[in-house]
Amino acid sequence: MRVKPFRNEPFTDFSKKSNLVKQEKAIAHVKKQLGKTYEMIVGGKKLRSKGRTVSYNPSNKDEVIAKFHKGTKEIANKAIVTAYKKFDEWKLVPAEKRASYLFKASNIVRKRRFEINAWMILETGKNYLEADADTAEAIDFMEFYGREMLRYASKQPITPLKGEKNELVYLPLGVGVTVPPWNFPFAILVGMTSAAVVTGNTVVLKPSSDSPMMGKIFYDVMQETGLPDGVINFLPGSGGEVGDTLVGHPKTRFVSFTGSMEVGTHIYELASRVQPGQIWLKRVVAEMGGKDCIIVDNETNLTEAAKGVAVSAFGFQGQKCSACSRVIVDKRVYSKFVSRLKTEVEKITVGPGEENYAMGAVINEAAQKSILKYIQIGKKEGKLLTGGRKAKGNGYFIEPTVIKDIKPTDRLAQEEIFGPVLAVIKSNNYEQSLKIANNTIYGLTGAVYTRNRNKINAAKKHLLIGNLYFNRKCTGALVGSQPFGGFNMSGTDSKAGGRDYLLLFLQAQTLSEKV
Ligand code: NAP
Ligand code: MG
Repeated sequence: MRVKPFRNEPFTDFSKKSNLVKQEKAIAHVKKQLGKTYEMIVGGKKLRSKGRTVSYNPSNKDEVIAKFHKGTKEIANKAIVTAYKKFDEWKLVPAEKRASYLFKASNIVRKRRFEINAWMILETGKNYLEADADTAEAIDFMEFYGREMLRYASKQPITPLKGEKNELVYLPLGVGVTVPPWNFPFAILVGMTSAAVVTGNTVVLKPSSDSPMMGKIFYDVMQETGLPDGVINFLPGSGGEVGDTLVGHPKTRFVSFTGSMEVGTHIYELASRVQPGQIWLKRVVAEMGGKDCIIVDNETNLTEAAKGVAVSAFGFQGQKCSACSRVIVDKRVYSKFVSRLKTEVEKITVGPGEENYAMGAVINEAAQKSILKYIQIGKKEGKLLTGGRKAKGNGYFIEPTVIKDIKPTDRLAQEEIFGPVLAVIKSNNYEQSLKIANNTIYGLTGAVYTRNRNKINAAKKHLLIGNLYFNRKCTGALVGSQPFGGFNMSGTDSKAGGRDYLLLFLQAQTLSEKV
């Protein structure tokens, strides 16, 4: 199979009126389809249950996006057994054929781009560009992993040995459980699931209860490509209720998780217990949270730095694992930087994603409560610079909030808040900034603003950060160019969108034949 080299999917240019209109029309079209009820799908069969997972619009909390028959323990068991049976067939399908499903799917997503963006805008409160970038990333994952599978399926380099023919081939693992988060509700779900499937595994996909519709859309796209029934099994439901059944099942071979540290460590622990009848050690890929930082040095353009920090901290309401939640500023430029940051942050408008405000609502009521609680803690630990309150609207809106004079050991500087709250920390010098940056349990993303080459080199040597940027924002990693994943409690550093990623779903076999 010959394919063109991978290129990132361009983002839609919303500075063009015609694209804005297309997006608005797609939202109006999707609005007519809200509130429907959908089944679970196991082995291609639609399954019902008594309970419902209901997805709401966070910007308009009474608006129901969709309802889903809710997974039960019994159906979770059935889904694993179904996927296990299907694996025997799917693993024998040639890699090229498997990759072709992803290439077809990415074309379908391209055609449905504005409509998929619209569902995401309504289901998770993204603005147009944030939603569009998410859909573009989903396309990238499918295009990239399709090509990667072809590479892994090709002849692998091995040292020649006289009198024997040696080969190394990659085999799939078995049944995988895919557990994505709601914050990149399409991209991460599509990336994790398509990687598992293209490598020859079968999957039980449990979407986040905050964004199940995005999972349903992906399921439908894959069905349209002709993917055989049972390769992906769609099981919406509460993580707490069905998660343990899926993860603990003896036929589950691996778990691919992206989400919070709390849930990730729980899955890691549960998966490590060998169950009766289980004949392997489960593999767990867990990508978790962050407490990401930007260092602002005294030798830099403070206006640029303030803009970069504001975008990194408040894009999608700060609900990115990569979001900047700590900015560490050299004391020589502290007050100047703080005043420029205030100016930048106060330009940010807050309102419904569907009206394309810079910042929308946070995902749900529990998130809003928890974020407001952190703001109260922050006001005691430091000084409120701007924001700090709920913003008006019939959704979970919060003002972009900055708290200055936070100490490196304060809770605001240590705990992942996952919302529009930024802590500003003063540092005595660059060396201390590096120490503060490393001083959390996480190590996901970060950036350094400095003109000084020696300082850049020092950061490269000392910062334990999975995705480290210089003189730019710390969000928006691109598939292929910026493989993504973090260190320590940020997870297993899977480097999604990189050349090592598919290995996580494969095992290598060596074949040696006497000639
Ligand atoms: P979360 O609460 O941990 O949930 C993630 C997924 O796990 C959801 O589908 C959830 O289902 C499910 N789940 C909950 N309990 C479970 C259990 N016992 N067994 C199996 N699955 C279970 O995280 P989130 O709120 O969706 O996402 C935000 C978090 O993700 C943040 O911490 C963020 O930093 C992190 N994140 C990390 C990365 C990365 O690449 N490192 C990327 C994006 C996000 P329910 O929705 O039904 O509870
Ligand atoms: Mg919702």
